[in-house]
Amino acid sequence: MTDPRIIDGKAFAEKLRASLTQIVTGLKQDHGLVPGLAVVLVGEDPASQIYVRNKAKQTAACGMRSFEHRLPADASQTALLSLVAQLNEDPAVHGILVQLPLPAGIDEHAVIDAINPAKDVDGFHVVNTGRLATGAPALTPCTPLGCLMMLQDRLGDLSGMEAVIVGRSNIVGKPMVALLLSANCTVTIAHSRSRDLPAICRRADILVAAVGRPEMIRGDWIRPGATVIDVGINRVPSETEGKTRLVGDVAFAEAVAVAGAITPVPGGVGPMTIAVLLRNTVVAACRQHGLPEPAI
Ligand code: NDP
Repeated sequence: MTDPRIIDGKAFAEKLRASLTQIVTGLKQDHGLVPGLAVVLVGEDPASQIYVRNKAKQTAACGMRSFEHRLPADASQTALLSLVAQLNEDPAVHGILVQLPLPAGIDEHAVIDAINPAKDVDGFHVVNTGRLATGAPALTPCTPLGCLMMLQDRLGDLSGMEAVIVGRSNIVGKPMVALLLSANCTVTIAHSRSRDLPAICRRADILVAAVGRPEMIRGDWIRPGATVIDVGINRVPSETEGKTRLVGDVAFAEAVAVAGAITPVPGGVGPMTIAVLLRNTVVAACRQHGLPEPAI
């Protein structure tokens, strides 16, 4: 039997994709609308190629249209901006994702700024970050939204809970603050300059680790019974010579003995990210067509 403390992100993502498949079927039948996601990959970064392939596969599996655009590593910023402009105008494309990181020499901000905010399914455009921060309807970054969904599924109403987020990036830490605040948590965000990080973490009913440092958060930093969301994905050498394995930012074996619930790595936050990307594409398509948003 699986440990009830483990939050199974893979199963949660499967459930979300199953609901999306049903919603997409309904949109096709009732409105002739097929949500479409365009993913743009520049260069040949191996990890990015795997992500893009998985995104395309899962988009199609949910009954949506998937458009893949590949540009060579030496493509100019002008060529990329012109592709984004073309996708902005394409009525079959409801969501646009430019896979990051981009090769050196291309200004990420300029590219993100060029995406129509209504199609910005990554939620990185300043219009969407501003809307999220002010509580207006936004397209919300996928990883933190997936974390919130898993927290609410496990804990129900989060009102009044102490939430601590370690990491203040624009793609995880900062949007996580906005989401947990909107769920009425008392939120602390810590980073590399925070003093006495273990003491800050021990306050948390909800601890979100998004640091990028293998197993930095130890078991004795965790308040007994706390819910721990480990966003980190770190590749480290494995016991088998020449092989590697994935670990999170939390020392899992220590943490699982203390926490009330915890996401594993792999199989926790990671699978949710793509499922939420598909959810954002469906939401974007409904908004663009003036249809009611699905409650997911
Ligand atoms: P960034 O590198 O952009 O941000 C890391 C944050 O951690 C920074 O705010 C940094 O602080 C803080 N930090 C670094 N060292 C310490 C320290 N010793 N003590 C306290 N804080 C520290 O990372 P991302 O947010 O992009 O990603 C974080 C992790 O999450 C990575 O492992 C990444 O691979 C993973 N990730 C996983 C995703 C998924 O789908 N599961 C999606 C996105 C990311 P400062 O600002 O002061 O430098």
